[in-house]
Amino acid sequence: MTYSLQRDGNKQLSLNFRLREFASRCGADTVTVDSDLVDVLQRMRDELGVPITINSGFRTPAHNASPRRVQGSPTSQHLTGKAADIVAAGVSTTDLCRAAERALAAQGIPGNITRYHTRQNFVHIDVRATRTRREHNGSGFTSVAGWANQEAGVRDQGAAKPLAGVAFAVGDNVILNGRVHSDSFGGGPGRKFENRRGTITRVVDTSRAAPIHIDHIGWVGIADLTKG
Ligand SMILES: [Zn+2]
Repeated sequence: MTYSLQRDGNKQLSLNFRLREFASRCGADTVTVDSDLVDVLQRMRDELGVPITINSGFRTPAHNASPRRVQGSPTSQHLTGKAADIVAAGVSTTDLCRAAERALAAQGIPGNITRYHTRQNFVHIDVRATRTRREHNGSGFTSVAGWANQEAGVRDQGAAKPLAGVAFAVGDNVILNGRVHSDSFGGGPGRKFENRRGTITRVVDTSRAAPIHIDHIGWVGIADLTKG
């Protein structure tokens, strides 16, 4: 979909993303954004529970080709509004890639995830129809298997099928008294909540430190939850 930055800049494309965040950094008024990209980024935002910053979304051909600025590929997915270069404060690029894997899988999109460890550390994600996974270390790209394999052993709980021995299920309303984390292993400890109400969106391997995900907040430990 193509928008006008001036007219639609403040338009909310999803719960946490406005049109202006996707605009070409050259200031062009035309902004093209693919709704699949917005859906994937919003899923990641929901899971991580922290703001995602888009360093580069849509690019006009002139901006993309700019030798001093972007030096993008002439076939870059940024040109069609299908790509975003992202960071999130307090979230490692590994965790961003893992969240991107889950979001693409949930949307049924093969997509491309490329992790950049260059002068800046960031993650490129796009919603192309062929699966691509790469790392860029500053001197070139290397194909990699992806990041979903690092979640091996996770048993995602279906909405209607409780895991044996787990008191909580997807869809349960709960009250949190404790800290949220950026992943189910208890990484990236975040804000501590008191009596925060939420709804469970995922339940994974309960041997992990924070195996329950609450919508819009993050991953939490079982001991910090009561039904609400
Ligand atoms: Zn990119």
